[in-house]
Amino acid sequence: MKKIAILGSTGSIGTQTLEIVRQNEDLQVVALAAGSNVARMEEQIREFRPWVAAMWSEEACKDLKARVADTGVRICCGMEGLLEIAAMEGMEVLVTAIVGMIGIRPTIAAIENGKTIALANKETLVTAGHIIMPLAAKHKVSILPVDSEHSAIFQSMNGERKERISKLLLTASGGPFRGRGKEELKDMRAEDALKHPNWAMGKKITIDSATMVNKGLEVMEAKWLFGMDLDRIEVVVHPQSVIHSMVEYADGAVMAQLGVPDMKLPIAYALFYPDRRPMDGKKLDFFTLGRMTFEKPDLETFAGLGLAFQAARAGGSMPTVYNAANEMAVGLFLENKIGFLQIPELIAACMEQHKVMADPSVEEILQAEQEAYEYIRREID
Ligand code: NDP
Repeated sequence: MKKIAILGSTGSIGTQTLEIVRQNEDLQVVALAAGSNVARMEEQIREFRPWVAAMWSEEACKDLKARVADTGVRICCGMEGLLEIAAMEGMEVLVTAIVGMIGIRPTIAAIENGKTIALANKETLVTAGHIIMPLAAKHKVSILPVDSEHSAIFQSMNGERKERISKLLLTASGGPFRGRGKEELKDMRAEDALKHPNWAMGKKITIDSATMVNKGLEVMEAKWLFGMDLDRIEVVVHPQSVIHSMVEYADGAVMAQLGVPDMKLPIAYALFYPDRRPMDGKKLDFFTLGRMTFEKPDLETFAGLGLAFQAARAGGSMPTVYNAANEMAVGLFLENKIGFLQIPELIAACMEQHKVMADPSVEEILQAEQEAYEYIRREID
């Protein structure tokens, strides 16, 4: 029986992880954590009976405690709760499916306690890759990617020698606005950007797909996860989202992982690696698919992607600023307070005024995050 904990269990990745648990009797959920969705957490507790569950806010904790008092499940709260779960004795795999930099400290705690990490939370490696990767190596802990692109690269590296990789090819659907110019995008609103052509995901990541900031974050994540120079990471727009990413080797061979767009595959691969479990659902039908197409990304219209390469090259605290500025700008866009094109504009302005800290500690990362938020607040007021 493999014992897993899920941080962000009520979200898109969290609930899909629980679907996999339902289908595999040798997985046991020992801990769950979420932000404020008490009603869904109550349902999850009653179904999966974890040892511990955590909510972020005190209010949500209190409410949850009262609701599930009859179950005997221990309820904890806030960052303390997340850290307790991450270090919990008996837990083997931590699925980090929270949104935001809040995921950094629990991931560090889990690594220090020898837990395998199934990593969905992008912000962890984007902002703290320089801390996380050496720490994981020191504790001999595996960081298994959940993100479909990184999982595809990871699968395409099976049995290969890493030093023979010539480049990583990260595929991108291009999102709902692929092929459009800046003029058409300036009036786009949240409801337009939330219509992703291929993937059903949380709101923030769906907007990030529309701006291609999501691909930018993935480039940074890939750099740390696979120890690859930025010059050897290329983004390929592939609207059908069938090839989930590829690896090119020194002899010109390109290995790819293909499949229907379904996050359950990469989640299950991370949970059962190196095994593959049977999965229900649609399989790839090449005759229906007919053809696959590829394009270069339009860096002028989707400036957020180019800015990600700039932030990654600057290194240190700059990726944190890129990420935090984007997070806040996306929030404002979802509230219809700024336009679509203002998202990359705010990121660029925030990066421009930032003085890079070369090797930031977790505290300095969180400080850079707050400074970026404050800068954007001032800009918008
Ligand atoms: P969702 O917004 O759907 O879910 C976020 C989860 O995090 C919810 O369970 C939420 O709880 C919880 N949460 C938010 N804040 C806190 C907090 N302070 N403390 C504890 N829990 C918190 O996000 P996704 O599932 O889409 O994405 C999760 C992460 O995975 C992101 O980093 C994303 O970039 C990455 N990712 C997502 C993919 C996808 O297909 N969705 C693909 C690849 C990566 P509550 O519901 O109570 O608010």
